[in-house]
Amino acid sequence: MTEVNKHIDQDSFRDSVATITKEGNRKFIYPKKPKGKYYNLRTWFSIGYLIVFFVLPFIKMDGEPLFLFNVIERKFILFGMIFWPQDFFIFGLGMVTFIVFIVLFTAVFGRVFCGWACPQTIFLEMIFRKIEYWIDGDQTKQMILAKMRWNAEKIRKRLIKFIVFYTISFIIANFFLSYIVGIDTLLDYVVHPANNIGTLAALLLFTTIFFFVYWWFREQVCIVVCPYGRLQGVLLDKNSIVVAYDYKRGEPRGKPGKKRGAETIGDGCSTCIKKYDGTGK
Ligand code: SF4
Repeated sequence: MTEVNKHIDQDSFRDSVATITKEGNRKFIYPKKPKGKYYNLRTWFSIGYLIVFFVLPFIKMDGEPLFLFNVIERKFILFGMIFWPQDFFIFGLGMVTFIVFIVLFTAVFGRVFCGWACPQTIFLEMIFRKIEYWIDGDQTKQMILAKMRWNAEKIRKRLIKFIVFYTISFIIANFFLSYIVGIDTLLDYVVHPANNIGTLAALLLFTTIFFFVYWWFREQVCIVVCPYGRLQGVLLDKNSIVVAYDYKRGEPRGKPGKKRGAETIGDGCSTCIKKYDGTGK
């Protein structure tokens, strides 16, 4: 192998997304249950975020919610200050400042926001994934369950997970709605559902979307939907602080410690994201 070809071979992992097969099919990820100091710290941070998310709609200032993003009536409240459409230039300036901040922040600190503060990560990793470990077990048990024929155990586990995931998705959809219409209007919807069939239908639609994301779509949000995820490729450089695949350590891939020609196989054992191989080992 020439030096040039060797280089291309070493870097081939860059040409594909690890969660998509060569044929373009989805590779479902079964991550090993994380543990450690930083994971515990993230859990505590997440508890804080979740308390803020679920409590904020109830906090009022001078009879108005602390935060409101009522796009229907074009009324926005930030920290108790009301913004109407004619104030939108302030909002626009704020957004431009915010975007510049995000660009600079990402260039320096990489994906810190993604791992520690993004609602998608918090809901997926700190609520739904933890419930999944509780119902289905750790990585190996999840893979065995996925391959298992439908039997009483699988039906029971899938049914429990479905009910719990859908209920939590419904609660999250309600709280997101409270940031748009205000908690009082939302409580009115809850007390008089018959008068608000349209809203209930919209809520169920959003609940189903949340459910679909956390049940199946998961990290694909970052790959194909989130604009911030798509932009990160041009926002990061070699000096950005990122938790990423260490290709010098992991390549070339294969059985760790073995030799391929003159090269020693890297130590990427795939344990944390292994694909089901039929044995569950
Ligand atoms: S890429 Fe987007 S959705 Fe994914 S973790 Fe980052 S901010 Fe969240």
